[in-house]
Amino acid sequence: MPPRIHYGPRMAKREKPRPHLLVADRDGNIYDHPDLLMLCRRGEEMALPRPDEITPLPPDSEFFMLPGRLAVGFDPETGELEVMEELAVAAFVCPAHTVTGVAAYAEDDDAPALPLLSYAAIGYAEGKFWVCSKKVDEDKRQVFSNIDPERIRAGAHKLMKQFPDNRLVRHLAGCALNYGCPAAKNLALGRFECPLPTARTCNARCVGCISHQPEGSGFPSPQERIAFTPTVEEIVEIMLHHGKREKRAIYSFGQGCEGEPLTNWKLLADATRNFRERGGKGTVNVNTNASLPEAMEPLARAGVNSIRVSLNSARKDPYEAYYRPVSYCFEDVQESIHQAKKHGLFVSLNYLFFPGLNDTEEELKTLHALLEETRLDFIQLRNLNLDPQLALELLGPHFPGPAMGLNNFRKRLRKTHDWLRFGYFNPYLGDPGAGE
Ligand code: SF4
Repeated sequence: MPPRIHYGPRMAKREKPRPHLLVADRDGNIYDHPDLLMLCRRGEEMALPRPDEITPLPPDSEFFMLPGRLAVGFDPETGELEVMEELAVAAFVCPAHTVTGVAAYAEDDDAPALPLLSYAAIGYAEGKFWVCSKKVDEDKRQVFSNIDPERIRAGAHKLMKQFPDNRLVRHLAGCALNYGCPAAKNLALGRFECPLPTARTCNARCVGCISHQPEGSGFPSPQERIAFTPTVEEIVEIMLHHGKREKRAIYSFGQGCEGEPLTNWKLLADATRNFRERGGKGTVNVNTNASLPEAMEPLARAGVNSIRVSLNSARKDPYEAYYRPVSYCFEDVQESIHQAKKHGLFVSLNYLFFPGLNDTEEELKTLHALLEETRLDFIQLRNLNLDPQLALELLGPHFPGPAMGLNNFRKRLRKTHDWLRFGYFNPYLGDPGAGE
């Protein structure tokens, strides 16, 4: 009788393969190289990915060739790096995954700027694609591969039929039907998080803004900003409707198709108060650049439960180099976190992680200090969606020193701050009801 296979942890520790390099020809055909191994980049460093940094390519991910960028592989025979004539390939990993290593390539001088995405290193081994990323959240809110697109289409049209005079419904139905926005698709399906864009302007000029890019920036903004300011009634109508369909509802101001929601904080407070007074339950959240500390108390009193603060670094210089604040400064962001905690809000960071920059000692030290001072609750390990070379030129000088890797970075934070939670999405906070 054959020995019984023991599926204990020992099995799980099976050696991860060393994926081979992927290259693309000019027609976009992608091949795995027979001998050369995949490399990844952490900051300026090019190296073989560590076993804990790679994972099979998750479903709903995309990969593409990089124009004007030649693939670079590792020759295990000679120990040398080899620049290919073929183009490099990178992956845009699906939500809930954080990039641990960026695609390795040699850039032509006239290479076009890359669109506002993240570019994970990807390779091939044992009949499958392997990518430099780590799953950081088990939540399925942005998994649509098992959902019939017809249900989304029908749901969006049904919303427009039910609320014919609601401009915000028409805007979001359009986002679901035309842009494939995951948040708008969830509203059409009546599940998870309900998007509530309101702001037509912003008080920052983020280099990688997805809703507004200045002429000549070299990369288009993938979304258009909302062209009107919804009324309290238009907002609350959607919230109450979504609350009837999703028992663990989350409502989020601050979406990709708008400016900064705090520029409208009075509208957010009025809508939330009205929603709560009409029996509205669930988690009301604001995704924000946290530029206005004075807005935290009135939002908390109105019934907002959480804020998610967008941050690419816990330090002033790299923060201001990327966000290019117009009418506020980094200290206002820090003060907003303090005020939010003081008034009982759950505070998450929308932490824009770039391998080789954020996972460095100085950044970690400053993040420790911010966590100790504010005791903020949650870090969403997001990807900085920016052309890697541009990110290194803009931010590299602000993040000196070797990279410790995403896993070590998270492990050290978790070890020092035992209350801190990690993930990728805004958590459902139960039913705290109407504010202070
Ligand atoms: S805060 Fe948001 S809307 Fe404003 S510039 Fe940055 S990404 Fe764009």
